Amino acid sequence: MKITILGSGSAYGTPMIFNDWGRAISSNPLNMRLRASIFLEDENKRLLVDAGPDLREQINRENITDFDAVFLTHPHYDHIGGVPELPRASKILGHKIDVFASNETLEELKKCYAYLFTGGGEPDSGGLVWHPLDEGTENIAGLELNVFFVPHHHLKSSAFRYKNFAYVTDWQDLSEYAKAQIDGVDLLLAECNNGMVPMQNGHSSWPEIVERLEGLKIGRMVLTHLSARVDYQALQNQLPENVWVAYDRMVLDV
Ligand SMILES: [Zn+2]
Ligand SMILES: [Zn+2]
Repeated sequence: MKITILGSGSAYGTPMIFNDWGRAISSNPLNMRLRASIFLEDENKRLLVDAGPDLREQINRENITDFDAVFLTHPHYDHIGGVPELPRASKILGHKIDVFASNETLEELKKCYAYLFTGGGEPDSGGLVWHPLDEGTENIAGLELNVFFVPHHHLKSSAFRYKNFAYVTDWQDLSEYAKAQIDGVDLLLAECNNGMVPMQNGHSSWPEIVERLEGLKIGRMVLTHLSARVDYQALQNQLPENVWVAYDRMVLDV
């Protein structure tokens, strides 16, 4: 299985608007972060996870030519801002695109982009097939994913385990059910928006993650969805040897 980090940034990217780099060192290219998204390839299937506002740039940058399904974790702008690009993607690809999201996410999408759901009439509204996601085993484009929800602000973010890999983004806690899904993975890719500093903002920091995962068996970890407060090297220097800081275009083999 090959996983490409299309974006390792938080909601506002790094640098943020007006070239605000926060505490990230601007001379380090590993600090250039688009909004969080991954591309998972296995068994000749391709799964796009999240479609944020940088979607077009990410797809073009990696020369991605097609995907079999889209998995949306939750309805925040940085994860769904590119959804309106998908009908056009479908038109260019010449096939429908299956989009998987929880009912909570689908309800929010209907409010944000009502025209995508009304069908017919509206230009660029077709080509998408919506699939409600629930916790448990889900067949997504022929790949068997174990989906679990994690709390994030006032809503839930959909995370998943696929074989020996798990992806958890935008989380502030972990249920016992979710812990059981993560236990035993070779690679956990997880949001660490706040770096080393706990912030109570619906996101996670490394000290909180360590506490949350206590007792679970995890081979290695990569930390992603990093805010501009997080400098790549400063965070990497403080992590154990089997934990890495993500960067855009990082490729992970599992
Ligand atoms: Zn996010
Ligand atoms: Zn979020």
